[in-house]
Order: sequence, then structure tokens, then C-alpha cells
Amino acid sequence: MTKKVLVLGEVREGALRNVSFEVIAAAKKISGGGEVVAVLLGESVQSFTEEMIHYGADRVVTIEHANLKQYTSDGFSQGFMAVYEQESPEAIVFGHTALGKDLSPKIASKLASGLISDVTSIEGEGDEAVFIRPIYSGKAFEKVRNKNGLLFVTIRPNNIAPLEHDSSRSGEVSSIDVDVTNLRTIIADVVRKTTEGVDLSEAKVVVAGGRGVKSAEGFNPLKELADLLGGAVGASRGACDADYCDYSLQIGQTGKVITPDLYIGVGISGAIQHMAGMSNSKIIVAINKDPEAEIFKVADYGIVGDLFEVVPMMIEEFQKAKVGV
Ligand code: FAD
Repeated sequence: MTKKVLVLGEVREGALRNVSFEVIAAAKKISGGGEVVAVLLGESVQSFTEEMIHYGADRVVTIEHANLKQYTSDGFSQGFMAVYEQESPEAIVFGHTALGKDLSPKIASKLASGLISDVTSIEGEGDEAVFIRPIYSGKAFEKVRNKNGLLFVTIRPNNIAPLEHDSSRSGEVSSIDVDVTNLRTIIADVVRKTTEGVDLSEAKVVVAGGRGVKSAEGFNPLKELADLLGGAVGASRGACDADYCDYSLQIGQTGKVITPDLYIGVGISGAIQHMAGMSNSKIIVAINKDPEAEIFKVADYGIVGDLFEVVPMMIEEFQKAKVGV
């Protein structure tokens, strides 16, 4: 049986997040040839509808309202539920992002549905789809199938590749008026701790520093390396606890879960709680002066050495490669 699948696109700071295209790709598999309807909520989202269609959405439904400018679970659940009631889909896909993690349980409870969260890959298609998700902090994977009722899935960013962008794809765009004025919370202002650079949870390259970096200034070369590679800086909790950097950079069980193409761990021992957040990275490089460090057990490439020598050498080599010297 084909399915109609509703996906939620995410707009942040005036741009569609990459996960918006990944949910479409996941929905295509789940739909088994059915329809993929993308939902965009925000103050002004019309300009993103075409992009969603070019990445494979068959249709886009928007709700625009000043109160949807910033995410609130109240506002977005009212908006999403209005589209759900209009569309009556058989399945829903969100990103397993900060927004998706907050909103999906609320919507699932409203719909009295189950929730298959943090899916990293999908085997099979349509009714045969099997969802693979990590358990026990990434030490094992389980395969889950939806037996009956609404299928509701969240997918981990950077794991399911978007479809090819195709500007010849076309689709219908419609909007719904929803009165999102009766909210318990309104975001008056957002004050960012970290203002610049690539988003850690979506970065293709992450250079993460640990307690071995020894100071906040010690993170500067890591930032330089990350910038050179078009990536983001992350950290262990050890580094955050020592006040070398902000907790928004923490990777791990109680921080962000990341799956970049390349993770470079610098002066990080590889505690189990840290590895829960990065062990699914595609290529892991570890730099540590202790050859017995746990992180070497998951590393594809290990460099035993002093980070204060190794990182500047890497920067130099990447700079040369970049300018083609
Ligand atoms: P350390 O373990 O102190 O390691 C520093 C490393 O740097 C060492 O391996 C050392 O050999 C190396 N080093 C030192 N100097 C140099 C040098 N000059 N050159 C090269 N290498 C050098 N941790 C997380 O990261 N994320 C989490 O989400 C998280 N959640 C937790 C939740 C709970 C409930 C608990 C109890 C702990 C959690 N932790 C988490 C903490 C975790 O257990 C570790 O304490 C922490 O990850 C250690 O950080 P680190 O590797 O930077 O420091």
C-alpha cells in the first residue's frame, strides 16, 4: 500500500536546514510511491517552497504567522496539527534535531501514536520499511517495524542522503490560515552564545577539543583547522567543565550527537559518554599523546603525539593543499 507522508521542513536564520531535504528522502522510501507533503511553518516561508519541491516533495503546505517566527512547542504543534487534520497522512517524518526532539513526542501524544525516534537508516520500502536506530549509547542497533496505525519517525541528521536537487521537479504549494495567537509562550528575543560558523549538528567536518587542549586559547588552532576544512568546532565535557568553551559545543551522551563525514578528536580520552555522541562519524581521526587512550579503539586514523605540534602541522599542510603548493 502506498502512503501519504507528511514531513516537517526546518528553517533557521533565513535558510532551510539540510535535514529538511533528508526528511523528504526518508519519506520517499516510506511512501512506497505515495505522496510526500512538506510542511513549512514560520513567519515568512514561501520563498523556501520551491527548494523543497526540487528536493523531491510532491506538495508543500505553509502556515505563516508572526508567532511562528521562532519555534515554540505550542505554536508549532498547533500549526502542524492543522496540516495533519487537513491531510490525514499515514506517516510523519521529522528530523531528530533540537526542534524535532521537542515537538515529535508532543505530536505523537496528541495523536496517540507510537514514535520511532533517532533513525539512522531505513531498509526496504513502503509497508516493508524497517527502521534502524542506535541503542545503549550507540553500542548496538535495533531494527524496528511499525505494525499498524500511524507511522511516526524522526531521523538523525547527516545519515540519510537527500535526493538529487532537480529544478525541473514541480509541485503544488498551498497555505492554511491558523490563528496561532493563543500561545502560552512567545519568544521575545533570542540571545546567542555562539554566533558564527557552521552548525555543529549538521557539520560535515568536526574538530573537537578535550581537556588536553588545556585552555580557551588552546581552542584557537582547532577553530583555524575547522575553518580551513569548512567544519565546526566541538568539545568534550571535560573541556566544557574546565571552561575552555561553551556547553553548546559539547558532544556526547549529555551533549550533541553528531555524525559528520570527518571527526577529528584532539586531546580527548574517549570516555564512553563522549563516544556516545560521535562514534557513528564516518571517519574518526584521534590525536592524543597517550597511545593507550580509549579513543584510538574507535579511530580510523590515530596520531600519537603532542597536539600542540600536530595541529599546527595539519593546518600548514591543509593550507598548502588548499592553495595548491
Ligand atoms: P580527559 O579524560 O582528561 O582526557 C584528556 C586527554 O587529553 C587525555 O587522553 C590525554 O592523554 C590527552 N592529552 C593531554 N595533553 C595532550 C597533548 N598535549 N597532546 C595530545 N593529547 C593530550 N563527556 C563528554 O565528552 N560528553 C558527554 O556528553 C558527557 N556526558 C557525561 C554524562 C555523565 C552522566 C557523566 C558521569 C559523564 C559525562 N561525560 C561526558 C564526561 C566523561 O565521562 C569524561 O569525563 C570526559 O569526556 C573527559 O573529557 P576529555 O576526554 O576531554 O578529558
